[in-house]
This record gives sequence, C-alpha cells and structure tokens, in this order.
Amino acid sequence: MTKYIFITGGVVSSLGKGIASASIGKLLESRGLKISLVKCDPYINVDPGTMNPYQHGEVYVTEDGAETDLDLGHYERFTNAVILKDNNITTGKIYDSVIRKERQGEYLGNTVQVIPHITDEIKQSIRNVAAGTNLDVVIIEIGGTVGDIESLPFLEAIRQLKQELGRGNAIDIHLTLVPYIKSADEVKTKPTQHSVGKLREIGIQPDILLCRSEKPLGIDVRSKIALFCNVEVDAVIQALDVTTIYEVPLMFKAEKLDDLVLRLLNLNYKAHDLKYWESDVVKRIKNPQTSVKIAVVGKYIALQDAYKSIYEALAHGGIANNARVEIKKIDSEDIMRQGVHAYLNDVDGILVPGGFGLRGIEGKIQAIHFARVNKIPYFGICLGMQTAVIEFARNACGLENANSTEFKKKTRYPVISLLEEQQKIKDKGGTMRLGAYKCAVKKGTFAYSAYKKTQVFERHRHRYEFNNKFRNIFKKKGMVFSGIFTPKNLAEIVELRNHPWFVAVQFHPEFKSKPDSAHPLFREFVRAAVKSNK
Ligand code: GLN
Repeated sequence: MTKYIFITGGVVSSLGKGIASASIGKLLESRGLKISLVKCDPYINVDPGTMNPYQHGEVYVTEDGAETDLDLGHYERFTNAVILKDNNITTGKIYDSVIRKERQGEYLGNTVQVIPHITDEIKQSIRNVAAGTNLDVVIIEIGGTVGDIESLPFLEAIRQLKQELGRGNAIDIHLTLVPYIKSADEVKTKPTQHSVGKLREIGIQPDILLCRSEKPLGIDVRSKIALFCNVEVDAVIQALDVTTIYEVPLMFKAEKLDDLVLRLLNLNYKAHDLKYWESDVVKRIKNPQTSVKIAVVGKYIALQDAYKSIYEALAHGGIANNARVEIKKIDSEDIMRQGVHAYLNDVDGILVPGGFGLRGIEGKIQAIHFARVNKIPYFGICLGMQTAVIEFARNACGLENANSTEFKKKTRYPVISLLEEQQKIKDKGGTMRLGAYKCAVKKGTFAYSAYKKTQVFERHRHRYEFNNKFRNIFKKKGMVFSGIFTPKNLAEIVELRNHPWFVAVQFHPEFKSKPDSAHPLFREFVRAAVKSNK
C-alpha cells in the first residue's frame, strides 16, 4: 500500500517548500524506497503556461508535454521519480474536470459543491498518481501558505485523505519559519505556534515541523515548539540556510528526518546510500578547481525564478567539469541601449535562453553576433536558437532584415515561421509543440560528440520553427543542421564549424539535466567555456 506525505507551508512564502519536498524524496529514495511527488497549485489557471514569468517564474515542461510548476523541476533534478502531467494538480484543472462532469450529468440531481465534489476530485487526482504503481510513498506539496483562501479546498482534501488512510499511512510535514531577532539576540517561536494553530483550526495536526532558521535551534527552543505545537521533540527539525540547495538532503539526514518519517509511516528500509550525492555533487560544488563566467542574455533577468532550470543546468555543467560557473545575468534591452562591449567583454561563454515576444530581441541578436565573430562559446536554447538563425541569416547569408514572423508578421525573409498546423490554432493554452520529440543526431558534429548517440529525446515548448525554404542557403554559408526531427524534417539542432563551440537547439535540454548527470550539451558548453578561459 502506498503511503502519503503531505507538505504544507506556514508563516511566509519562499521558504523553499519545493526543495524541501524534493530533498525528502531524495532521502527516502536513498533508503531504497520508490517514491513520487505531486505539486498542488491553488490558482485557477489550468496550467501556468498562460502566465507571465514575472507572475509565476519558469514554466517547467514534462516528458509528456505538460506545462507545469517549476517545483516539478526540483523533483526531477533531486530524484528518479517519474514526473508527468498528473503530478501537477491545479485548482483550474480540478474545476475544469468537475464542471465537465456536471455538464455530462455525472452528478445529476445534486448541487455541485466545494465539499464534497471539489475535494473528492482533488483526493482522486492525488490517489491516481499511485494507482497501478508499486510506489512506496507519494509526497504531496500544497502550494501557498496556510491561511490563504485559495488553498483551503486542498487542505480540506488532505485532511480527509489523512483520516481515510488512517494512522501510520499518511503524515503532514509543516514547513515554517523561526525568525532570529537581532536586537533581542533570540529566535522566536510565535509565528510557528500561530501557523500550527491555524492548521489545527482546519483539522490538521502536523506530525513533523521543518523549521527554517538562520540560527541553530537549541534543545530549549525545540522543546518549546514541541510543547506548544503538540509534536514530539525529535519531530522539530531545524532547516538551516545552506550554501547549495543540493546539500539540503544531507542536512535533513543529519537531523534524522528520514528515520522519523520511516518510523511514523511504519516502513521497512535499507541503510543510506547518499555517498555519490555527497562526494560527486555537494563536495564538487564546494571545492571547484577552476571557474568560468557565463553570460545569460534574457529578458526576465530580474526575476530569480524565470530561468531556474537553465541556471541549475549550468551549475550541473560546472559540477561535471569541476568548475564554478559564475552566471552574469544580462538584460538584452541593456545591450540594445549600451552595446555588447559594456557587458560581454569579460565572459567565457554566452547563452541565450527561451522566450516570447519582440521585447529585447535585437539585443540578443547583437550578443549572438558577438559570440559568433569573436569565437566565444555560444549555446542557444529555443528562442536562443531562433535568434541565432536570424543573426546568421542577416550577417552571414546576406538576407537583409531576416526575421521571425513572431516579431514581424510580414517580412521578406521569414527564416523562422509557423508551420501550417500552428497557423490554424486559436486557443492559447497547451497548444504549442510540447513535450518530448525524437531527434536524429548527425555524426561528426558538436552535438554528436556531446550525446555520443544518433537518437535522443528532448522536450519542446514553442510554436515557431526554422523555415526549411532557407535551409540550402544556410548550409552553403556553413551552418550545420546536426539534429533533425525526421518525421517532419524539422531543424532541432544547428551549429557552426570553425568555432570553438556554437550550438543552438530548438528544444529545452535544461529540463533533463541533473546535478549528478549534467545534460551532455550543458556539460560540453561549460567545458568549451573553461577551455576558452585558459
Ligand atoms: N517564442 C518562440 C516560439 O514560440 C520560442 C519559444 C521558447 O523559447 N520557448 O517558437
């Protein structure tokens, strides 16, 4: 029988609930358990695909083509769990399904209500993840903070579920903040007491408290929290700030969190196996042999979370090369205002990530031109591939003012354009080219020397494609089409010879990179940057 761990958050947002959930997953996997993780998001959008990155941060794409919350990225990076569309449940998805059923007459004769219809739908969606699997544990992270109106149906659903599953089969772990007050030189437990009080008001008694704190929590503080929050003293776990997020599972292990979880869930377990993670991930991050500076030229630079997977994948490339990757975040509009030299003279590699819309495009094109002619390693991802194509068209193929029809509807040289099947689409949600597609990799290319395979699967999220009408002229001028989606003859990877490393891909390799197995293209890009730094 599958056991359940519910993770809720209190006091404030941004305490790192996603990383805590992923770390607990990692820790349980290290004890030989088979796990999965689910994120419940209380917003009414069916998925975050229609939200601005400033609202939501990165949209993470799963292998089966769902546009999901970025916490699912943490789940995949930390664990071996299979994370698909059903691992992200949103209020929008739940209501969409309930309303559809109502129209089909499934509730005929009844008033459809939040309790029981919405809560039943949530419970069913959570149970579906375990159905037909041999999972030992499913970890369910509830988005938002206790006290939010939006998350109430989710909390009610997990309260019911915990009750139905019975003692020993489900637990609640509550993540809270124990702030340090400098003037009093004390940590304060009151916000945690209030947060747990709020949870109890809606019928949930947490079993374990994860206390985020700047200062180590002494036994007196732990005892006080235990007494007022009604948990055992050893269920008050300190979660201190760490230098790298990949250290969190090790910190939880030191606090014996896994032993406690296994005991509360009556689970059999093996000894720890976290050695590789300790020596080949965390130790390497902390003791790099060299360092490189990589420019990420995008438009959502101000927001920490907008390019989450890109930043993580670069760090993984660093781990694989024993290098610290310093990321220089550059707003492409600043390049438009002040020129490339003000920003790119001191970097060892340049990466242009994915994106949408016209703003900042010309700055990205300038950055790519700089990388191409000055032979600085370049990695283009999705929009970063499309802008590399535009740059090459304009400056190497003589196709003056070449553009993507995304930025200019009527343009003489539409080197990036919509396929016919995309032109017909009116709805915005979930209608891009999404999820994993097969890519044939050509031998004797940068791509092949990274992958060492002639066939790979990579995840997509875009509408526009390279326009094959121009392929011959691009080839003639030296662009190599090293990755192709053969069923439709679509350009997936382009690269340049006579350059230390210039590779641009239509897909998003960052979604498949892990700290202990960097994505081959990120690994090779960082390697090229390290070389050019010497
Ligand atoms: N805007 C481009 C497209 O829709 C690129 C998308 C992306 O970078 N994810 O094709």
